[in-house]
Amino acid sequence: MATLISIDEARRRVLAAAGGLSTEVVPLASALGRVLAEDVNSRSDVPPFDSSAMDGFAVAPGAEGKLEISGEARAGSPSPKPVGRGAAIQISTGALVPGGTGAVVALEQAEVSGETVRVPALPDGKNIRRRGEALPEGALVVERGSELSPAALGVLASAGLSHVRCARPPRVAILATGDELVAPGQALAAGQIWNSNPLALAGQVELAGGVTQSSETVADDPHATRGALRDALEAADVVCLSGGVSVGPHDHVKGALAELGVVEHFWGVALKPGKPTWFGVLERDGGSVLAFGLPGNPVSAMVTFQLFVRPALRALQGADPSSTRLTAILDEALPRNSSREQAIRCVVRVSDDGWHATPTGAQGSHVLSSMLAAGALALIPAGDGSVAAGERVSVELLTGVWCG
Ligand code: AMP
Ligand code: MG
Repeated sequence: MATLISIDEARRRVLAAAGGLSTEVVPLASALGRVLAEDVNSRSDVPPFDSSAMDGFAVAPGAEGKLEISGEARAGSPSPKPVGRGAAIQISTGALVPGGTGAVVALEQAEVSGETVRVPALPDGKNIRRRGEALPEGALVVERGSELSPAALGVLASAGLSHVRCARPPRVAILATGDELVAPGQALAAGQIWNSNPLALAGQVELAGGVTQSSETVADDPHATRGALRDALEAADVVCLSGGVSVGPHDHVKGALAELGVVEHFWGVALKPGKPTWFGVLERDGGSVLAFGLPGNPVSAMVTFQLFVRPALRALQGADPSSTRLTAILDEALPRNSSREQAIRCVVRVSDDGWHATPTGAQGSHVLSSMLAAGALALIPAGDGSVAAGERVSVELLTGVWCG
């Protein structure tokens, strides 16, 4: 770890190595959260015909006064005949407006008496939704690179699509290392702890649109580490290691990565927590594999996943890899670190004067509960002294924001 690089430089190096993956056709019903691989245009006009915006009566242009009710148009069942002079056709919201219609009189404005109805004069086109008004045929509906939201699925369905082409979800192999790790639920012997990183990381993988295809935990042993890493590199797009990436005598991750031909792109980020983060790339037939050596401390693992692995998973899917950054008013003073940028877990809330960020409490890299209520990471630049309460700082939101 000769020189530490900045968060921004580390991200740049990760994104430079994260090319796109292949694509696949996905039924809309399974496409929530997937990233569109192509622009989608409407297959037809939406709505596909002139339709009524109200329950009421379709009347001829200029109609007024007492009219004979001559038929009915229902949603899905058009009237077989047009509106004649002196007549009105009862109509439901969403029904095709009959030929000869000038306007639709809302039920509330009509006085029905037996087979006749009295209507006021209405301007032409009143209460009629024109064909193509919401979305004309051929219009761009959802752009390539968009993450499909519930609204996007609805709009695509309304435009006549049943399937869309999406990026293949990146396959992630998680590999935790540590002699002290015991599966949750099992009894702990002296010096052991429960293994929490694989679960937290797999959750982050899923929220970033990836798929955890394997999750292994190995002891601090060079052979075991190399064997498990070899398997992970074989089938995954991204390998996420946790622990064993520092300089201790029992840290075997970097050695195993080097032996298996993974080329280092950086080791060491001027970041707290997360200094020993390692990133490298293996070129193999059929594309490259991105390998991240994340620090074992549970907070460090999650923070570095957010800052480096998540952007990679987004970029692999062809989505915008940047996270939502905003500035927030810091509600508590925070000491700066002299040489490293800090990622402080914060609760964020919005107030009359804008966004506020309050640290979630003790910020030790082993205090995983500090992530619990965290909606954002406040990024505090290195330097002397403190950032005072009330100062504005840059924060990166941890929660997703639906768009498109
Ligand atoms: P390391 O990066 O391997 O030096 O580990 C740093 C700290 O993180 C140590 O206190 C480890 O016990 C802890 N740690 C490492 N891996 C895990 C894990 N999978 N789950 C929980 N804690 C871990
Ligand atoms: Mg370890």
